[in-house]
Amino acid sequence: MNIARAKEILKSQFGYDSFRMNQEQAIDAVLQKKDCVVLMPTGGGKSLCYQIPALMLDGLTVVISPLIALMKDQVDALKNNGVEAAFLNSTQTGREQTEVFQAVRSGKLKLLYVAPERLLQSGDQFIDFLKSINVSLFAIDEAHCISSWGHDFRPEYIQLGRLKRYFPDVPLIALTATADKLVRNDIVERLAIRNAALFVSSFNRPNIFYKIEPKRNSYARLLEYLESRRAESGIVYCLSRNSADSLAADLRDEGFDALAYHAGLDKEMRDKHQELFLKDEVKIIVATIAFGMGIDKSNVRFVVHMDLPKNIESYYQETGRAGRDGLESEALLFFSWGDINKLKGFAEVEGNKSQTEIMLKKLNTMGAFGDLKTCRRKFLLNYFSEELTEDCGHCDNCNTTFEKFDGTIIAQKALSAVYRTGQRFGLSYLIDFLRGSQAKTIRDEHKNLKTYGVGADVSKNNWFDYFKDLIEQGYLKQTEGTYPTIVLTEKSMDVLRGTERVELFKVTIKEDKREKSLVSKLEHEYLKDLFDELRQVRTVFAREENVPPYVIFSDATLIEMATFLPQSEDEMRKISGVGDLKLQKYGADFLEAITDYCDRNNLTSRINLKTPKREIKTRTKRDQSGQTTYDVSLDMFKSGLSIPEIAESRGIAISTVETHLVRFIPSGEVALDDLVHVNKIEAIRNAIIRLNAGFAVAPVKESLGEAYSYGEIRAVLATM
Ligand code: ADP
Ligand code: ZN
Repeated sequence: MNIARAKEILKSQFGYDSFRMNQEQAIDAVLQKKDCVVLMPTGGGKSLCYQIPALMLDGLTVVISPLIALMKDQVDALKNNGVEAAFLNSTQTGREQTEVFQAVRSGKLKLLYVAPERLLQSGDQFIDFLKSINVSLFAIDEAHCISSWGHDFRPEYIQLGRLKRYFPDVPLIALTATADKLVRNDIVERLAIRNAALFVSSFNRPNIFYKIEPKRNSYARLLEYLESRRAESGIVYCLSRNSADSLAADLRDEGFDALAYHAGLDKEMRDKHQELFLKDEVKIIVATIAFGMGIDKSNVRFVVHMDLPKNIESYYQETGRAGRDGLESEALLFFSWGDINKLKGFAEVEGNKSQTEIMLKKLNTMGAFGDLKTCRRKFLLNYFSEELTEDCGHCDNCNTTFEKFDGTIIAQKALSAVYRTGQRFGLSYLIDFLRGSQAKTIRDEHKNLKTYGVGADVSKNNWFDYFKDLIEQGYLKQTEGTYPTIVLTEKSMDVLRGTERVELFKVTIKEDKREKSLVSKLEHEYLKDLFDELRQVRTVFAREENVPPYVIFSDATLIEMATFLPQSEDEMRKISGVGDLKLQKYGADFLEAITDYCDRNNLTSRINLKTPKREIKTRTKRDQSGQTTYDVSLDMFKSGLSIPEIAESRGIAISTVETHLVRFIPSGEVALDDLVHVNKIEAIRNAIIRLNAGFAVAPVKESLGEAYSYGEIRAVLATM
């Protein structure tokens, strides 16, 4: 019942057709006044988990967020969907704040965003104020800031632990994109919400294509890369402020629309650059990691790392800023082992040996990721304790075959080059030497050696790969330090003597499978010139209202319009992202642009191509004939409808239908393998036994991860 209403709001206020990930479960829990912790990747849709309950509950939802810079945009976006929202922070004048207080008192406000320090400053004044009104929910955004284990600890968050004491009956929802178990436990502990329901979503970001290239001529490669993405927005990360500044300047010289962002710029400049980027007025931000925390720009199409991030967490978080709108996006990293050596210095935590070790270990894992020959996504998810059963088919390695060949001769050439030059030179020198380079850097005495020039038939790039491979296989070693040299190992002699055969990898790129992915198929079919026209319409509104364009409509929404060509208000309403208020405010202008375009090009509506929502006749009549709700689900199931279809047609949650059907397992009316794929049964059963979980489903679910649903676990439980 409640959930059906939540779904209506999802469509009417936000314009979306269905919930994502654990949104539905989290909303359900909040509506039942349960505390909960929601873990969802960036862009997953955490905000709706409290925004929808805020609209359904009497009273005010207080959102605590550390991102003052973002509050205004968040509130603008809500207002634009017809939601009464406001924020309180230090950037406002006294008068503006008074107005907000009045709005709260009048009871018409549904959501209030406040900074944590504001909430608990000047004694308990603000708390007392909240006590005098009706607070229905506390939402704590970026909840990992409360944990000193996290990567972004904020001492003022600690104070939030008092909330539960002051408001024991008001539910509290904590949200974060940090998956770490230590952090998760800390959140529960410090917020004093021991009985909180936990909702963990998969951290997979299927629309991001992961790609790593060797860091060689990376500037030239970057130019080429950006050239092919002229119309798109992206972030380029650098390690240092200096390199961010100079790279941004170089890119501008090359005619790209790029600005720098780092902590060394004064605040005014930083804010300006960020704002221009958010508003699509500037396409590329060249930044240090100072940029990004809370960047809510949905149409970032690519993230490039010029230098290696210091651990997988940072890499995941930074690349995660791409593609929040769900459209095809790319993460490109330029990788070199040299960077690992450089970062080792930064990993040192003074006077703390064990912490230093942890950092170094994380750095090495990052190195392993850079050098990986198998599915990148599998590795990433695995790092976050999530299992991907199949290769993703959507990363560089999944699109590459690594073929082995007999590389003994090549190995002998490489090793003897190292040996003859006295094990005192680095990779580049050795490769130049092998290729018989005429460069002055090559010492004259080396030019007389027999090995000089014996590798001229192999390209520079291939030599790099072969050396890397030889190092990896232990036939050579790279020393540490600022100027690493290549030296022989105990395995080298056998190769030089000719008693050991060496296998090397030959790299070939498979055909690009990306076209097959759903998102790109959709993108493929949209009318690009219409999309550009719609963007112009959007820009006009955005400038008029002084908000970022995505607050009007996201790129994803415009792409849908340019794909399905809605011709009327009713058709427009079917576009994802078009809610009632936006339809009213902007509908006519966008419709005009579309119909005009269609007239010019002799096109008609394609709205019926949009995933047809099958109309299913419900059997509510039988309800009245005394059948229980379980029987109704069973009947529909027997008549051949799938679980999602039953849920849709009855307006209840999928999980509810599953619960209904599980009841019929003991009697045999529903078979276990009707509900659970046979391949999964064994794993679920084992997990239940291993965890000795009794009838508790949650721990089993947590251990099995996203690929297994609560319903499937309950079904197996029912047979045990
Ligand atoms: P997070 O806070 O988890 O990073 P947001 O709450 O900002 O993510 O949501 C990211 C984007 O996804 C927003 O543009 C939001 O409107 C959109 N979104 C959220 N839920 C849904 C949904 N159920 N269907 C479609 N889009 C959604
Ligand atoms: Zn893959």
